[in-house]
Amino acid sequence: MLTDRPPRNAALLAQFLESDRLAVIELPQQDRLSRLAQSIDLAMKDGTKAVVQQACAEFVEATSEFYQVRKPGIRVLAARPLRVRDGGRATELFGDYAPEEMLIRVWMRTAVRKQVTSFGTFLSTLCHELIHHLDYVQFGFGDSPHTRGFYERTAALYHHARGTAAKRLFWLRVPGGRWRIDWPRTNRSA
Ligand SMILES: [Zn+2]
Repeated sequence: MLTDRPPRNAALLAQFLESDRLAVIELPQQDRLSRLAQSIDLAMKDGTKAVVQQACAEFVEATSEFYQVRKPGIRVLAARPLRVRDGGRATELFGDYAPEEMLIRVWMRTAVRKQVTSFGTFLSTLCHELIHHLDYVQFGFGDSPHTRGFYERTAALYHHARGTAAKRLFWLRVPGGRWRIDWPRTNRSA
């Protein structure tokens, strides 16, 4: 995980720094999200794409309800489209988020090797896209940069949903004002 380069534009930079500092996120007391995440896991093992889509929609709805935001659309795709038109989207390897349409897309297979995305990666991608959504609709960020705070919040939501202990993330500074996770140190401290 690598953070984005800090923007030059002063207004965007202010939001970038705010996002970077925002390392904690409120989490539900109940285990509703982890039960819904388990349904996604089961659906990925035995179900059709429609069943996975339904399980994801329930997870997205419960998350939006908890954060009291409008729920985004969610589309589960079998394979990543070969030609992904960016169009202002936040694009990752296994998913994307289109702020204009408030639409999350996640895919169950990678385009090139047709490998099935593991449940952990799939859920982590879904949480990542939900954090993009919250950046826009809850915090009103004009952009949703990948900052250390962004990744901390994503990890917190993911570990809550997965029912695993959250790790403290350690970061290494890399050129260009960016940071990447120091995995050996992060894993040692777990
Ligand atoms: Zn992203």
